[in-house]
Amino acid sequence: MLANPESPSLPNRPNQVFVSRNLRLDQISIIGFDMDYTLARYHRKHLETLAHRITLDKLLKRGYPDAIKSIKYDPDFVIRGLTVDKQLGNILKLDRHSHVGHVFHGRRKLTNEERRKVYRSEKIHFEPPRFATVDTLFSLPEMCLYADLVDFFEQYDGPKIDNWQLFVDTRECIDEAHKDNSLKSIVTADLPHYVEKEPMLAKTLHKLRSSGKKLFLLTNSYYKYTDKLMSYLLNDELSEYPAWQAYFDVVIVGASKPGFFTKNEPFAKLDEDGTIIERPIKKFERSGLYQGGNRKSFEKFVRYSGEEILYVGDHIYGDILRSKKASLWRTALVVEELEDEITIISENTDLISKINLLEKERRELDALANLQRQELSSMEKAEEKTQETSVYSRLKKDRDRIKRQLRQVSKRINTLETQLEQQFNKNWGLVFKEGQETSRFGKQVNDYACLYTSRVTNFFGYSNYQYFRGAPELLPHEQT
Ligand SMILES: [Mg+2]
Repeated sequence: MLANPESPSLPNRPNQVFVSRNLRLDQISIIGFDMDYTLARYHRKHLETLAHRITLDKLLKRGYPDAIKSIKYDPDFVIRGLTVDKQLGNILKLDRHSHVGHVFHGRRKLTNEERRKVYRSEKIHFEPPRFATVDTLFSLPEMCLYADLVDFFEQYDGPKIDNWQLFVDTRECIDEAHKDNSLKSIVTADLPHYVEKEPMLAKTLHKLRSSGKKLFLLTNSYYKYTDKLMSYLLNDELSEYPAWQAYFDVVIVGASKPGFFTKNEPFAKLDEDGTIIERPIKKFERSGLYQGGNRKSFEKFVRYSGEEILYVGDHIYGDILRSKKASLWRTALVVEELEDEITIISENTDLISKINLLEKERRELDALANLQRQELSSMEKAEEKTQETSVYSRLKKDRDRIKRQLRQVSKRINTLETQLEQQFNKNWGLVFKEGQETSRFGKQVNDYACLYTSRVTNFFGYSNYQYFRGAPELLPHEQT
């Protein structure tokens, strides 16, 4: 049957909303949004280059050698979802079983042998304080700078700074850059250069509101910055909304997530200039502007709780994992890399099926080679092992042939995998995969985000009655 050209159609795959846990949009009463990298998408290279430069300047002010000035930002060096080993100065990519895949020491990729020696000789828990994860796009410039500093100090003749301290200093400086306005003042002075204006954003929020849903903004950014960004994105977009605040029933800035979900900070009420006028507050008012606060009081004030609330953010830890662990809120994660990742996957379906077939062949050859090994070894034990026994030597020859085949297949898989991965990122491959496995980041998304999508405006492609249904999960024995 031909589709009716007049009738609505589903969004293209890169712009779909993906489902880890079923969610009925008509059962959601109030939807919250984070701002940075969620409602506000940045021109990443511009913002990251700026953050890198400011962090470098701050390190110089702390007395780091002048020669680090020549370090340049390489936007393609790292991706989201990596793990830093502060002790060894390494950056790693883990799969869902915490098996270490790719590893870089500074900017040099470790060989397989080096990698195994460091991370496979004992059980390691990839947790703080030794390990830190790179889970927001804001962290990418810091990671790149860290890798360059590790290399720099290894070559440097002057006083050394150890890998752990380098990480601490870099993180402190970039945190400072975000807090002390050095970054934000430059961004707000030239918003079009740093912030992507999305034509569908106002329409998407309006569409969600049109079925009677309430919306709220919950951001860690403070009022002045929030006001500048949101004005740029939403003011003068739709005539029904005199200013950006009108899209939201409640606006909460300086929320200190993830503490917002787990602690008990009081709410403060702000006036139109962002000055605190009441703290703690007695009640919420429609279109009120608040700072700080906590989840429990929020639920009491808005009179919605648990599964009636959907929160949309881009930070797997601060927005999604914490809220999921502390409450029954439903969650949606924005992962902008999805668009590229899906496009690359759809352009390489032949390559991917080749890899899958070779993987199947590898499993079978491997099992066969091991059966042969066992057989040979029992013959040896039974002292049937004589060079002259034709059964023994035939079996041995056959096993050598199978092992050669196995090596060839493994080599072929590696070549094809690298070919696929390099299209996304030449150092690390895909964000959601590590080799044939789901990456640790991919697992976290699947475990904690009910929905995930590449941008907020993808919700425009669905009705307000959408039943987001996940595909049935298949255990290994159910897969054919
Ligand atoms: Mg954010």
